[in-house]
Amino acid sequence: MQIAFIGLGNMGAPMAINLVKAGHSVKAFDLSQDAVAKVVAEGGQAAASAQAAVQGAEAVVTMLPASQHVEGLFLGRDGQPGLLASIAKGALVIDSSTIAAATSQKVAKAAEAAGIAFIDAPVSGGTGGAIAGTLTFMVGGSNADLERARPLLEKMGANIFHAGSVGAGQTAKICNNMLLGILMAGTSEAIALGVANGLDPKVLSEIMRRSSGGNWALEKYNPFPGVHENAPASKGYTGGFGTDLMLKDLGLAQENAMAVKAATPLGGLARAIYAAHSIAGHGGEDFSSVIKMLQKQG
Ligand code: NAD
Repeated sequence: MQIAFIGLGNMGAPMAINLVKAGHSVKAFDLSQDAVAKVVAEGGQAAASAQAAVQGAEAVVTMLPASQHVEGLFLGRDGQPGLLASIAKGALVIDSSTIAAATSQKVAKAAEAAGIAFIDAPVSGGTGGAIAGTLTFMVGGSNADLERARPLLEKMGANIFHAGSVGAGQTAKICNNMLLGILMAGTSEAIALGVANGLDPKVLSEIMRRSSGGNWALEKYNPFPGVHENAPASKGYTGGFGTDLMLKDLGLAQENAMAVKAATPLGGLARAIYAAHSIAGHGGEDFSSVIKMLQKQG
């Protein structure tokens, strides 16, 4: 299949590479040349612009940071035409970015008017899952559009869930990430407490992993350096899921909670914790660096 892939960051690049490895022809575009080069090195083709990437594409996959990037790309910004004008009628757009459900619905409506199918398909599983092709996809859209997307999603992920109509994938994703943000802050707090009492972080983490406090952070993404060799914490908190991206997701969860009058006290507190961590200069680090806020430094 001829695929355009736009947004080749920590997640997008390995996802695009898995489509190349599955035998698809992938035209890759990112604002960063270095990001494009990673996909080209694995057999993708470089596109000079998003418009060039979608020429002849039967499917367009996007993996961008936030709502404003997705809306600006597809619907246009600063008087520039949106990408929908350049995508062939009948093509399928799969947006895997984590954004507001309302933005997914707005873009889907404009896509439908242009004869283009659209699904929201945000993911969970981190950069490790993106590289291994074991992501979980949470899809919002029609059954028919999901079935069209499924052969591609299967090359990038191991679990594909149909959450409901367009936007429902995003709603599932912000519920998940609100829980993840809370779990990572809580896990960091528990490890910091143990270390302050002289416990070995590896031993304590293993005890909690095998006990009633066990969770994904303790399984795969320990926030303490050196516990998990491949976790961002052991690589100077680089290459994972940025604090500012987690902050964005916790903000989306709070906006949604206000709209439906849901009580999310821990989600609200987690947002405040990551916001304070971000303004202390850690916005670009992996979100597990939140442990620094809870530990005595130096
Ligand atoms: P990232 O910041 O590493 O990558 C985003 C990429 O998009 C960058 O390379 C940037 O240059 C590019 N970009 C921005 N605007 C663009 C435009 N107009 N045209 C082309 N390229 C553009 O982010 P990421 O970690 O890959 O995350 C991407 C999305 O996936 C976010 O919505 C994030 O919340 C979500 N997500 C991330 C993870 C993770 O573990 N990193 C996990 C699940 C979901």
